[in-house]
Amino acid sequence: MKITDSIYIVASGKWGFGMTHELDCNVYLVDGGDGCILIDSGVGLDTGRMDTVMKSHGYSPQDIKAIVLTHYHGDHACGAARIMEASGCAVYAPAPEAEAIASGDEDATSISLAKGGLYPADFSYPKCPGVIGLNEGDTVTAGNVALSVHMVPGHSLCDMVVYGTVDGKKCLFTGDAVFACGQVLIQSLPDVSLFPYAQAMKKLAEFEVDALFPGHGVFCLENGGSHVRAAAEKFACGLIPPQLYYFT
Ligand SMILES: [Zn+2]
Repeated sequence: MKITDSIYIVASGKWGFGMTHELDCNVYLVDGGDGCILIDSGVGLDTGRMDTVMKSHGYSPQDIKAIVLTHYHGDHACGAARIMEASGCAVYAPAPEAEAIASGDEDATSISLAKGGLYPADFSYPKCPGVIGLNEGDTVTAGNVALSVHMVPGHSLCDMVVYGTVDGKKCLFTGDAVFACGQVLIQSLPDVSLFPYAQAMKKLAEFEVDALFPGHGVFCLENGGSHVRAAAEKFACGLIPPQLYYFT
């Protein structure tokens, strides 16, 4: 689905637009004019459906120059290895989570807890060797698009959001750090941390944001910052923002 001149959503599962495999997060393609950046990669199952969506807009996995993984959860990161093999693209992830993605660590990424429940019993986290760890303020570029990354620990060990101007709009790709209406997704997993989450959201609320592109659910093209601030304000009161509706 084409969202703006240069931004497309090329995968989205049952907690989103129901375009591709049900476990896929929202996967966004940003066309920099000389190569594309993919924000997240989906779960890596039934990948022909994502390829078909890309193809319908004139793209193939070979057009991807860089994949930016917002965090190591399987629904965001497990599609990266295949695309890297097909295109030779660079794969970036938050530095604290990069090793777990490279080695396919099913305990660190909590896949071992989810197998046989949310994930198929025979699911296997593909190793993605060569993944490059990013730190606060690092930049990923393709053609005329430059996106900076910012760390938001909390939903997982260290999520990262992706920020930059595309088609004249200040865009924030939030992965699972914050969703539309200021919702969050706090799971009973060992790497969740609430107070660092609250502190990071306070900083994120200061970003000027037009378009908000979350990892699940709807995106919005205007006044995206209000959604971030809604979550930050709850955290600032010592509370937990509303939970993303995440049915199984
Ligand atoms: Zn997640």
